[in-house]
Amino acid sequence: MTYDYDVLVVGAGSAGLSAALTLGRCRRRVLLADGGPTRNAPSPAVHSFFTRDGIRPAQLLQLGHEQLAPYPEVEAKELKIKRLTKLAHGFRATGETGQGLPFEATTRRVLLATGIEDILPPLPGFRELWGGSVLHCPYCHGYEVRDQPLAVYGQGKAVVGLALLISRWSANVVVVTNGPGHLTDYARQRLRRQGIGLRQEPIARLVGTPKTGLRCVEFTDGTFLECKALFLHPPQEQRSPLAADLGARLTGKGAVWVDKNAQTTVPGLYAAGDMVPGQQQALLAAASGSKAAICMNEALTKEDVA
Ligand SMILES: Cc1cc2nc3c(=O)[nH]c(=O)nc-3n(C[C@H](O)[C@H](O)[C@H](O)COP(=O)(O)OP(=O)(O)OC[C@H]3O[C@@H](n4cnc5c(N)ncnc54)[C@H](O)[C@@H]3O)c2cc1C
Repeated sequence: MTYDYDVLVVGAGSAGLSAALTLGRCRRRVLLADGGPTRNAPSPAVHSFFTRDGIRPAQLLQLGHEQLAPYPEVEAKELKIKRLTKLAHGFRATGETGQGLPFEATTRRVLLATGIEDILPPLPGFRELWGGSVLHCPYCHGYEVRDQPLAVYGQGKAVVGLALLISRWSANVVVVTNGPGHLTDYARQRLRRQGIGLRQEPIARLVGTPKTGLRCVEFTDGTFLECKALFLHPPQEQRSPLAADLGARLTGKGAVWVDKNAQTTVPGLYAAGDMVPGQQQALLAAASGSKAAICMNEALTKEDVA
């Protein structure tokens, strides 16, 4: 059987674009399926990306697409992949194009670079301010709000760890737990020692607009906590069910498990970027996409020369 592509890359964020570049330079026939906005789309800037610190997310993606242009074997398409079926030596992919047309193709390998989704608390203000002044990652945005009054949202051990981390960027940090914080005496002591405040009242809403940024946290008892930004580590979900649908193993935290060659437990199905275990940053996603591309090219070369 002949396959339409050597590699189908699903997802055109940092991981997918970087994988497509490496594979294009290996002269592999690549289809890059660009299925919509990336995780950081609501953010004004990408920070900590070597040589691109502060670039707009859309501009980074545009550069990634532009730099695929010299490689004729790489085809990028507005395309949402809806289903992957395992074949003897590859996969059949079906989906829908950006124009709403049905799509079908075969491919020898698949790289999933579909990212993750952040599940925000269902409280007014979180979604509206997400990416601007409701933030998840101090490595990405801590510097921009340094020395400002900051809130850290969450409960239990996790919020204590995050608040202690955030205290590197500001001496004015208050934990807001939205009801009982489930904090041990030791946890409270650690916060106190670092000068971190604690508010356990239920939260009514976050006050502010995307233009002005966060102004304060309003509690249901009518009191306020003034702050310029709020950090939280929201739970995450896989953006796409493709890996799970094929029976790929997920970790206890819901990431797609991969071996040292970026391959999932489904032979020929690879994964990279935020969707696999590890730290989540655009540069790291790009690196893991590139690594997966090298691993796929080497596996394909073994097949080609057998
Ligand atoms: C608000 C915010 C701000 C951030 N700021 C920074 C920062 O400043 N610096 C930094 O390094 N990192 C930052 N990050 C983290 C960064 O966004 C991620 O690490 C990075 O986007 C991961 O890249 P990825 O390619 O794995 O996934 P993504 O960038 O999320 O790309 C996945 C792509 O796959 C597509 N897709 C999903 N399913 C399908 C399908 N079935 N078919 C086709 N396409 C599909 C999605 O639409 C998306 O375009 C931020 C994250 C957030 C939430």
